Amino acid sequence: MIADDMAAEADGGMDDAVNGTDGGEAAGTSPDDGAAPRAADSLALDNDRLRERNHVLARALSRAGDELRKARARMAQAMEPPLTLATMVAMDGVRFDDQGVRHASAGVAVSGRRMIVPVSAEVELSKLAPGDVVVLNDSMALVGRRGASRLGRVRRVTRVLDDGRLLVSDSSGTLDLADRASRLSDAVVGEGDSVVVDSSGRFAVEVVSGREDADLVLEETPDVSFDDIGGLDEQIGRIRDAVELPFLHRGLFERYGLRPPKGVLLYGPPGNGKTLIAKAVAHSLAGPGAAGGVFLSVKGPELLNKYVGESERLIRVIFRRARERAAGGRPVIVFIDEMDSLLRTRGTGVSSDVETTIVPQFLSEMDGVDALDNVMVIGASNRVDMIDPAVLRPGRLDVKIRIGRPGADEAAAILGHYLTEDLPFEPGVRPDELIGLMTADIYSRTEERRVCDVRDDQGRWSPVYLGDVMSGAVLRNIVDRAKTAAVKSSILRGNDVAIGAGMLAAAVREEFLQTRDEVLDADPREWSRINGIGDGRVTAIRRNAQGAA
Ligand code: ADP
Repeated sequence: MIADDMAAEADGGMDDAVNGTDGGEAAGTSPDDGAAPRAADSLALDNDRLRERNHVLARALSRAGDELRKARARMAQAMEPPLTLATMVAMDGVRFDDQGVRHASAGVAVSGRRMIVPVSAEVELSKLAPGDVVVLNDSMALVGRRGASRLGRVRRVTRVLDDGRLLVSDSSGTLDLADRASRLSDAVVGEGDSVVVDSSGRFAVEVVSGREDADLVLEETPDVSFDDIGGLDEQIGRIRDAVELPFLHRGLFERYGLRPPKGVLLYGPPGNGKTLIAKAVAHSLAGPGAAGGVFLSVKGPELLNKYVGESERLIRVIFRRARERAAGGRPVIVFIDEMDSLLRTRGTGVSSDVETTIVPQFLSEMDGVDALDNVMVIGASNRVDMIDPAVLRPGRLDVKIRIGRPGADEAAAILGHYLTEDLPFEPGVRPDELIGLMTADIYSRTEERRVCDVRDDQGRWSPVYLGDVMSGAVLRNIVDRAKTAAVKSSILRGNDVAIGAGMLAAAVREEFLQTRDEVLDADPREWSRINGIGDGRVTAIRRNAQGAA
């Protein structure tokens, strides 16, 4: 059929050529006037014409020949036997015969079957890597390679064996062993990674995602208790009422028709114990006989740094995980740190328009968490002003607790957690005396503790002192500085060096200098909003003359 068509096409081509010539001849033939002297001329002319016609015919014939050859090639191709694609598993053997001809064989997997096949002499053996797609001809000889396969099923790595093989599982939990394709031989693959397993089911050919889900949602049973937190008694009281009461006295709540809150927002400047409190809540939720609460924590910004749609999926994953864990009878706290980054007010355009889909996803998950599900969401934020109001409406994160900076009294309570009686102090010195000296120093409104000056949007300058930017985290840092200094001197002297007032005062001064330098690098507006200084309306920050000295 194809051949007939081709032949017809070729004939057509030839006819065209011949007709074209005829046409030309007809046009060029003029009536003979019979004059003898012109006969020779006329003969010569005829000769030329014949030669010309010959050429045209020859060209037409060669064209027709070309067409026929092409048609035959196409026919031959159409009749070629099918080739089989297989997965290269391993070389089986290579030998050379008396004639020096190479005889190689390779193990391949063909639709689930393992076979040893000869490798054609043209194939370069060094290029055949395990996991590659290879081509087998009709007599099942390996005749070529197609490179690495990249398609297949996605499987989760549950274990990496010592020899590098991967134990993978599908969504139903069925386990399989897969080898690494050669291009993954040196890749870092770990538990929780997702890999593509090729169609033969033998090779992991690509790592598609890191341990994202596992990494994003940290799960722990925290060992922080409310007793470890200094100076936040009132706030702790409020959160205990909001969270512990309904969890631990569910019956009473039901009897009095009281609806437990679904979530709590802890807000305030960084480093003041929001995370500590959330952990302590999870820790304290160990009802009689129950194991401790589960603390699932995610950082807002990490959820955001994902592909389009990925954040929404991860939010679903987190809540599913929470429900699964709660179904086991343990109370679950879902802690979302830096919540403002994820749940920004929609339509602000601050982070493109991702929030327009993330916020609704979060809301629908929140609405799906029945308060009796044992799941409680605790959000933390330094920028509560940025959070979409829908997130804070009743039935969602409706309990809002401000975790502010410590004043001198709270600072003393916090320091008491880090300067404990059991440490080596100078003889006769009591920790609470040292703490008293420290807080007086830290909170003194003197030039030595003046961090910077800030200008508000009215153009007025006012001083900022170390105490104004103090936090639990910084207090701990100061104590750690002093302790580090004591450890270093102890190493030098070969015996325990006592912690004394001088060491702590030096630590306060170091912390002051560092804070002062850091403040000057900050963006004024951003800094004032995060730190809650100057009502978020600071337009400029400058180092005051004395502080610089
Ligand atoms: P954030 O408010 O940013 O969540 P964190 O709770 O993570 O702050 O606090 C950071 C660290 O600072 C804590 O791990 C702890 O060492 C220390 N810290 C902060 N506030 C307190 C506090 N009130 N009592 C004891 N330590 C505190």
